Amino acid sequence: MPEGRRSRPSTLLQRLLRALLVQGRGEARAMEEAIHLASVLRLIGLFVVSIALPATLLSYFAVRAARVEEALVVNDLRREGAVAADTFWAGLDRDFTSFEQRVVERLRSGRSPLDTAGELHPQLRVALRFDQEGNLRAPFVVDAAEQPLPEEDLFHPAWRAAERAAAEGAPTEVQIDLLRAVFAEHSSPVLRARAQLDEARLRLKQGQTREAMALLDAVISRGEPTRDPYGLRLADQARLMRADALLQRDPEAGTRALRTLVEELLSETWTVGQGGEAALAARALGLVPPGAAGDWAPVARGRLAERSSMLYWAAALLPELDPVFGATPGRLPDGVVRWELSDRALWATTWWGDDYYAFGLDLENVLSELQADARAAVVADSDVSAYLLSPNEKPPQDALTSKSLGPWLGGWTLVVALRDAERLEAERKDRRDLRALIVGSALFVLLAGSFTTLAMLRRELQVARQQTDFAASVSHELRSPITHIRSQGEALLYGLKETDEEKEEAFLSIVRESERLSRLVDNVLDFAAIERGAKRYALRPGDIAETVMNAIDSISSAQEVQDKELDVDLPADLPPVAHDADAIAQCVINLVSNAAKYSPAGGWIGVRGRVVEGGVQITISDKGIGIAAHDMQQIFEPFFRSRDAMARKRKGTGIGLTITRYIMNAHGGEVTVASRPGQGSTFTLRFPSEAPAALRR
Ligand code: ADP
Repeated sequence: MPEGRRSRPSTLLQRLLRALLVQGRGEARAMEEAIHLASVLRLIGLFVVSIALPATLLSYFAVRAARVEEALVVNDLRREGAVAADTFWAGLDRDFTSFEQRVVERLRSGRSPLDTAGELHPQLRVALRFDQEGNLRAPFVVDAAEQPLPEEDLFHPAWRAAERAAAEGAPTEVQIDLLRAVFAEHSSPVLRARAQLDEARLRLKQGQTREAMALLDAVISRGEPTRDPYGLRLADQARLMRADALLQRDPEAGTRALRTLVEELLSETWTVGQGGEAALAARALGLVPPGAAGDWAPVARGRLAERSSMLYWAAALLPELDPVFGATPGRLPDGVVRWELSDRALWATTWWGDDYYAFGLDLENVLSELQADARAAVVADSDVSAYLLSPNEKPPQDALTSKSLGPWLGGWTLVVALRDAERLEAERKDRRDLRALIVGSALFVLLAGSFTTLAMLRRELQVARQQTDFAASVSHELRSPITHIRSQGEALLYGLKETDEEKEEAFLSIVRESERLSRLVDNVLDFAAIERGAKRYALRPGDIAETVMNAIDSISSAQEVQDKELDVDLPADLPPVAHDADAIAQCVINLVSNAAKYSPAGGWIGVRGRVVEGGVQITISDKGIGIAAHDMQQIFEPFFRSRDAMARKRKGTGIGLTITRYIMNAHGGEVTVASRPGQGSTFTLRFPSEAPAALRR
């Protein structure tokens, strides 16, 4: 028996428990229970430390980690959203503030913000100056008085005759005469000027430059703001023709004249809705010989393009500006820019002295650029997206951040929201599921651990109980033969046995009890040696029948066997079997003794030897109480004794079958049992015909 299994409270825990249990139980019982309880507590402690605590901690940290991670993800997204909004806002601020600064700088330095206004902001489409009354002053005017050319002038017979002559290719003189007639007879300044221009054109063709120039000078000097039906000012047309004519004779002087004309056209105030100045300037620029005017021509072309475009936008946007003016409350200090939105324009307006300036930015372009900026403000592949919302759109519920674009774009908002809220939610759900799985697994481990520990606990308690029973039964088994031997010995010593028969009977019983004692001691010692792994067997081929017979002889005198019918059938021709005679005898003794013990008085015990396939078998049968099915698995376990009342009545230690099984295994054989409760049992020792060399120890 291992040292630690002695029934003595050796640990502090055991002593403590014994002290607690001793009241009302008695010392021995308290000691026993203290030892049991100590092992139970040890197991519970082991379970708590190795399973319950780690599983609980694991679950706790898994849940916590997942929560923290989730919070971090949300925080990250919020931070990302805030950064995106700030980046966007900074860009917006920079853009519009620098525009305001440029405008004010120009005003302060005396340079008109209307010239090359495109430099002020890439989306600037029109820059206008008004007077205090709200009349457009520059670079365009609204000419409310402008009258269309009266129809009767266009269809005047004289004019039509001249036109027809030109169309039919009449001789130049005839055409000139007709045109002079128009000039002389007609009072309309438009027709008179057109007649003179056409005449000048014809004379130039004829080479009559001087006459032509005189005619053109006449038109120019009259300086009437008259326009032809195409919106071209006639005086300007005359200047253009003059410069062109000059160009033929003196290219340098001609180029200078063209330049002066273009410069003047560009610096003039144009009329909204009239494109004549632009068309004339374009024609004049077209006449300038390539390379003749250096950088001037391309610059002028650029200015012209800007001006023309501005004229177009002024016509388009002016109607939108009116309601904006109407909404503007009071006059702000000079240089303070107010921003207003109209349908198609973003207006920046400011006062400077008596002038009021309005700058119209292309709203569609401004917004689409801002949308692009918003998209660019978030990192690529980010989970958040940034976009603009118009004044009548509502920001989404789950927006991370929203920021108004005022004061520049009143009512517009930048919204930073989750790009794919559903996907994020799905990911969050996945994480939650994973966490549930982890916690579930941990709990499963916990439960599985609990069951395993419970099973171990039961087993441990059972073993502990069996050990205690074993100790008790060994003491008991030892005591009765010793008492018997002593009493018989004393009886002989003091002459209490008088007759020879009595004396012989006393001697015989002393011998029988000594044999029993030695069988018991053999079993206990063998078991201890087996437990230590110190048991060795010497296997030699020999007559197995003889070994069995000798064992039966030695047990036949035992008390329990004496009253049984022994039916032995061991054929003489059994082949030799490699075996350790003493060990096998011990097996047979154990089995025969059991057969006797667990049979009623007068019972039958059969011992048979047979040659079977692959070896020899010895069976020991009885017709006794038999073994319950639930005990069959365990009867070979150390210290196992059936709990059945019938079996309990018999004395025993629970190690006989353990030793038998060990010995048979050592012989390369086996011991098996077949039994039916109430009908008897048969134990079979099976020997291989040749024991494996490795087993011959
Ligand atoms: P024990 O000293 O208790 O007999 P064993 O190891 O020899 O110990 O046997 C273990 C248990 O197997 C016994 O307690 C008994 O319950 C059962 N057993 C063994 N042999 C027999 C048998 N021939 N008939 C009925 N029960 C038996």
